[in-house]
Amino acid sequence: MPLEQKIKYEAERDREFAQWVMSQPGGENLRHCIQCGICSATCPLSLYMDYTPRRLINLAREGFKREVLSSFTIWLCASCYACRAECPKKIMVTDIMYALKRRAIQDGVYPRRFPIPVLAREFGRMIFTWGRVNETLLVIDLFLRTNWFKFLSMTGLGFNLMRTGRMSFWPESIRRRQELRKILDALDAENKKEVAS
Ligand code: SF4
Ligand code: SF4
Repeated sequence: MPLEQKIKYEAERDREFAQWVMSQPGGENLRHCIQCGICSATCPLSLYMDYTPRRLINLAREGFKREVLSSFTIWLCASCYACRAECPKKIMVTDIMYALKRRAIQDGVYPRRFPIPVLAREFGRMIFTWGRVNETLLVIDLFLRTNWFKFLSMTGLGFNLMRTGRMSFWPESIRRRQELRKILDALDAENKKEVAS
């Protein structure tokens, strides 16, 4: 890792973001983290993360917003809760990861071509539009936004799945979609209010 990525300066801190993190469910006791690293040692995916769970918790509670929200770590977290189970201070690392994912999508600062956040965002859009997810359109959208070559290499498989009726191109829709949209809009507005306060 380049040296400039290791050094963090006081001036880079966003105190409002730190307060927001600690106001999230599970974030109340982030100050109690003793940086023992047991979460990182337990995490089956820390090897692939740009910041281990221990480092991410430290960056989040200190307000290093850009590093935290644009990290791959929050999207690689598989929500296995191993870190939570082993943490001697009962820090709710997994819940914090969820809060950070929501905030990253809301602020539009997730890694643009990384499939997991793109999938999460498009999944949410489809639910908002139709009330259901159409796997064919979701996969097409995902590959077009993240990896064109992969899309081209999988078109044969996609056609075969559609030809044999395993995947459908036409989206299904639920009845009374407007009611679902009202609920989702209200949740969205609540989240935005919480971030702004
Ligand atoms: S295991 Fe718990 S106390 Fe230790 S570094 Fe991880 S979050 Fe902090
Ligand atoms: S919940 Fe996420 S951060 Fe915690 S151990 Fe599992 S994958 Fe790692």
